[in-house]
Amino acid sequence: MRTVLPIALLLIALTAACVVAIGNGASHGSVVDDHFAATSAHGARCSEIAIAAGVDFSSERSGALGSIAARPDITEHEQLFVLDALAAGDGFSSDDTAVLVALARNPALSDATRNELGRRIGDFDLYSSDRVRVATALSDGPATP
Ligand SMILES: [Zn+2]
Repeated sequence: MRTVLPIALLLIALTAACVVAIGNGASHGSVVDDHFAATSAHGARCSEIAIAAGVDFSSERSGALGSIAARPDITEHEQLFVLDALAAGDGFSSDDTAVLVALARNPALSDATRNELGRRIGDFDLYSSDRVRVATALSDGPATP
């Protein structure tokens, strides 16, 4: 009994971990599906964001989303899609932070995206030091060339 119980607990933990992993995989698909189902008015970057959101490795996914987030011509619609895609992912705090900082320092950042970023900061599962970096980037504003 003493050995059976820990093994049973381990199995339960592993099962739970699998469910979480499958859940994360599914959410990438559904956030993209939801995005394209919500409207037919999309930006030039929406398909790029959808492809980036589906990249398996979280650091590569964040890298792709971060380079889109830094584009000077990214529209508000596309900025909000980047936030949705990032929030649905299971990225590391530092990787997600790099994307949010790129967006926060982009001169194209809209007021609506800024508000949404503040409202949803809890969705990104950041370390508190990374939250501070995002807040600092928001208050610093656009990067000076
Ligand atoms: Zn779109």
